[in-house]
Amino acid sequence: MPNLRLSEYTQFTDEHVAFRNTIRDFAERELAPHRHTWDKAGEFPREVFKMLADLGALGIRFPEEYGGLGLDWWYTLAFQEGISWSRNAGLVMSILVDTDMATPIIAEIGTDEQKEEFLAPLIRGEKVAALGVSEPDCGSDVAAIQTTAKKDGTDYIINGAKTYITNGAFADFITLAVRTGDQGHGGISLVLFPTDTPGFSVGRKLDKLGTRAVDSCELHFDNCRIPQRYLLGSENAGFIYIMQNFQGERLTAAVTANMTMEIALADAMRFGDERAAFGRTLNKFQVWRHTFANHIAQLEASRALTARACSQIIAGKEPTRLVSTAKLFSTDLAQKVIYDCLQIHGGAGFIEEYDIARAYRDVRLLTIGGGTSEVMKEIIWKWTQLGME
Ligand SMILES: Cc1cc2nc3c(=O)[nH]c(=O)nc-3n(C[C@H](O)[C@H](O)[C@H](O)COP(=O)(O)OP(=O)(O)OC[C@H]3O[C@@H](n4cnc5c(N)ncnc54)[C@H](O)[C@@H]3O)c2cc1C
Repeated sequence: MPNLRLSEYTQFTDEHVAFRNTIRDFAERELAPHRHTWDKAGEFPREVFKMLADLGALGIRFPEEYGGLGLDWWYTLAFQEGISWSRNAGLVMSILVDTDMATPIIAEIGTDEQKEEFLAPLIRGEKVAALGVSEPDCGSDVAAIQTTAKKDGTDYIINGAKTYITNGAFADFITLAVRTGDQGHGGISLVLFPTDTPGFSVGRKLDKLGTRAVDSCELHFDNCRIPQRYLLGSENAGFIYIMQNFQGERLTAAVTANMTMEIALADAMRFGDERAAFGRTLNKFQVWRHTFANHIAQLEASRALTARACSQIIAGKEPTRLVSTAKLFSTDLAQKVIYDCLQIHGGAGFIEEYDIARAYRDVRLLTIGGGTSEVMKEIIWKWTQLGME
């Protein structure tokens, strides 16, 4: 299997490397062979969650008392690097939504009952989660969401719609952003929403450019009644929780971008060694050697920046500017790297049986999902003005 031999994270111990290798072996053996089929089918078997749970991979940073491993963020990076060798961006996104986007906030601020009811079965691979923030009329501007949760006795009655929700069609519960107060960021709350609640329905499964093995759905809430004990943290503090939660999501986006580049570069370099034109293999042309060298140098920089952002989170320091910088840099870079990796394949790069064709489609999401590049720039600018690291 191709390997670029990029520099190792200095924070990685032998255990981190061994964990990554275990996950990579599993991904290459059990998942990668199905990548074309699952992408075409627009879904993959739920059984994959159970298999990952058996490897301990669904509760890496979650508390041991709920079945998690209680490990640090470096293990999440190790997991993500390993699972990327499934070569299936949709599947990877589905799993990361489950473990690193919809649920860390439950571990952080959830009640014991909420952790028992939602987190523990998720760690066992029995329940799958989605994160419901984006709506038909607002995505970047999270403070503008309009799905309402109105109090009625000891319940909330939820009405509204969400869109683009990953895992939307098969999630058992949604970490859902709702409006419980006034307009603006001060009136938003997060609730845990079981998808078997009467009045909930899944609308269209959106037909996407990439990440096709997982669904992205429209969701409808029509007078859905859930108990108020499903409120996460404090009422009307949801905007802060969402922003807090975004840091992990954006860090995982940076890791995904780095791994997309690493795998595509390794494949493209191998292709350049094997394919000949004008009497020599493509890698004998200096233009390709320099293209690869340039991309490897920038990928090393991107990984270093991502590691720096990860260290900031682990140190418990305010990570927003560094995480936004890592997401902006890595996901923008990935667009250029994947473009060149496809180009060296010539016509083969346009054919679905080559992984680079799928990577070309999949990579486009990275500068959009979880906060666009423009939003990252706004954050970096604002944090710089505030004198934040
Ligand atoms: C495949 C996929 C999966 C997704 N999964 C989920 C999910 O699981 N859960 C979820 O909640 N959401 C999900 N999303 C939604 C995603 O987070 C949003 O698409 C994203 O945040 C952008 O929001 P938007 O699409 O509404 O674009 P808009 O906010 O309408 O932005 C449109 C354009 O305007 C630009 N723009 C916006 N504000 C500014 C500004 N201040 N300055 C300059 N330019 C600006 C944006 O950068 C963008 O280029 C998913 C999206 C996709 C495509």
